[in-house]
Amino acid sequence: MLSDLYQETILDHNRRPRHYGPLPGANRRADGANPLCGDRWSIALRLVDDRIEAIRFEGSGCAISKASASLMADAVSGHTVQEALALFDRFHAVITGPMDRDDDAEAIGKLAALVGVREFPIRVKCATLAWHTLKAALAGADCATSE
Ligand code: ZN
Repeated sequence: MLSDLYQETILDHNRRPRHYGPLPGANRRADGANPLCGDRWSIALRLVDDRIEAIRFEGSGCAISKASASLMADAVSGHTVQEALALFDRFHAVITGPMDRDDDAEAIGKLAALVGVREFPIRVKCATLAWHTLKAALAGADCATSE
């Protein structure tokens, strides 16, 4: 079943989160928190000429928020800021959209693993926390320390 596949992706990203840990040479950072659930994630990235050359996240939170951060980092790594923000818009539209819009879910690739949160509005915040934190990091000032 499709839902089992989604479940498997979330479990996989919890067990083996991608892009997890500190990022040497990061020049953008942001912290995000979802007090409703206790999720707290920090995102660091290396932005070079409007392209996300590297991204890492650290922190703690529920399975949904952790899998979402891992999937998000995978999805935006190597992409431009515009591509990342456009993907967030599509992702956000899918997970807050009507239940019968599975055609849209296909357009967001592996991020569709999180589509089940549509049934649980409170979990939407878990699934979007990493993305909002990414946005904050991209909007923030260059914070590179001299090396
Ligand atoms: Zn959560």
